Amino acid sequence: MQKIQNYINGELIAPLDNTYIDNYEPATGKVYSQIPNSKEEDVELAVKAAEAAFGEWSTCGIAERSRILLKISSLLKENLEEFAKAESIDNGKPVWLATQVDIPRASSNFHFFATAIEHFASESHYMEEVKAINFTTRKPIGVVGCISPWNLPLYLFSWKIAPALAAGNCVIAKPSEVTPMTSYLLSKICIEAGLPKGVLNIVHGLGQHAGSAIVAHPKVKAISFTGGTGTGKAIASVAAPMFKKLSLELGGKNPNIIFDDADLEKALSESMRISFANQGQICLCGSRMFVQKGIYETFKKRFVKMIDELKVGDPNNSDSKMGALVSKPHIEKVQQYIDLAKEEGGTILTGGTTVNVGGRCEEGYFLRPTIIEGLDYMCRTNQEEIFGPVITLTPFEDEEDLLKMANSVEYGLAATIFTQDIDRAHRVADQIEAGIVWVNTWLLRDLRTPFGGVKNSGVGREGGFEALKFFTEQKNICIKY
Ligand code: NDP
Repeated sequence: MQKIQNYINGELIAPLDNTYIDNYEPATGKVYSQIPNSKEEDVELAVKAAEAAFGEWSTCGIAERSRILLKISSLLKENLEEFAKAESIDNGKPVWLATQVDIPRASSNFHFFATAIEHFASESHYMEEVKAINFTTRKPIGVVGCISPWNLPLYLFSWKIAPALAAGNCVIAKPSEVTPMTSYLLSKICIEAGLPKGVLNIVHGLGQHAGSAIVAHPKVKAISFTGGTGTGKAIASVAAPMFKKLSLELGGKNPNIIFDDADLEKALSESMRISFANQGQICLCGSRMFVQKGIYETFKKRFVKMIDELKVGDPNNSDSKMGALVSKPHIEKVQQYIDLAKEEGGTILTGGTTVNVGGRCEEGYFLRPTIIEGLDYMCRTNQEEIFGPVITLTPFEDEEDLLKMANSVEYGLAATIFTQDIDRAHRVADQIEAGIVWVNTWLLRDLRTPFGGVKNSGVGREGGFEALKFFTEQKNICIKY
């Protein structure tokens, strides 16, 4: 059985106490590899390596850092097939999806920040009346921690570590224990690319051991975390009293809004992705669909038929539109929400059941895409994050009615609006409580834009110069002459 190793001080090594955790393939329900069950002492080793590497990495120059990160980016591209397959085995997503989205995007993340750092500048402020100049330097923080979830494993992992490294920090990173494989493969690529030892350290293991040891370590000066809101709260309660810089990208319960005047064909096909891409396990997926009354019945009929025909199958098959959910505990959690929706008076329009897709996947974690209607907008199903292929359908009267329901949740990550009325698009986008709004499209990402949520969906923004600002510390120097 393959044993994943930690990447510490430039080497692939076993956890110090030599204990491992089973890693399951969600499509088959079988253990296929083992990952280090790292503890505090492994994190300690990683922090020591990172501290030792910091001096050289932070002063080797932007061009050198950029060169190495570009090399990592191109090696990811060269190894696209291997990485995509590994991501699919680990996560349950179709291989085609990992090939088209996850791995190219991970490569782009490195490319983007390798070049962004060359254009990153700080400000100066001239005081004419007293003849003084302020200039503000932005220097790397030191040793920083990056903790990422399982839904877009390498995509989100690289979204954090690339800007941290580009800015000159040394990193202790922990991928989700559920999906460790591509970050393990990345460590091999970092060695091949010539990343100096200790600059990036990848410590595998459980959140409660390895994760909390990173968060609590006094030498780790900033934490960039993506994951659930509950975990974010726990991390903030440890990191905030230690005055660490914190970036938290948390849960969502995003509205997908379709007005009477929407381009119906576009709204239908985009809504299929918005609702069920990656088995609905994207923080940006729209799990509450609001459709205006005038087109509600027509839209519902056509959308339910489309989703009914959506093929759930072996992630290896190119015609599988949806693969497996990420783990047994996760599919069980999603099923509990389907039961709750029924108790709350919801009607299942399609889905709601597991699927045996047969063959090698007999024991995999497959669920039919599920659409539920007839629920009050304030019920638990409509308020809590499910993070699976389950959406609710709710009619609305007008903008006022819509905004009351759409903004009723504790989350505020993203929203999608379908309308052909430009004034309405502006009005609603302006009043929706979300960090990101898409109009007549979804997940159209420009890596320069700020990414993150409001309310309980997070604190701070990733993306573009926002990420580089987070991973640097400012100092203002005022000189009078
Ligand atoms: P979790 O919050 O359970 O875990 C995220 C990461 O944190 C994992 O690596 C986990 O390790 C680790 N962790 C858990 N507990 C601690 C702790 N006490 N201290 C330090 N680290 C810890 O999230 P999931 O992995 O379940 O991911 C799904 C969640 O992520 C959803 O809520 C989703 O909305 C959110 N998400 C948000 C995004 C955004 O940009 N806003 C993007 C993508 C997802 P382990 O796996 O071992 O538990």
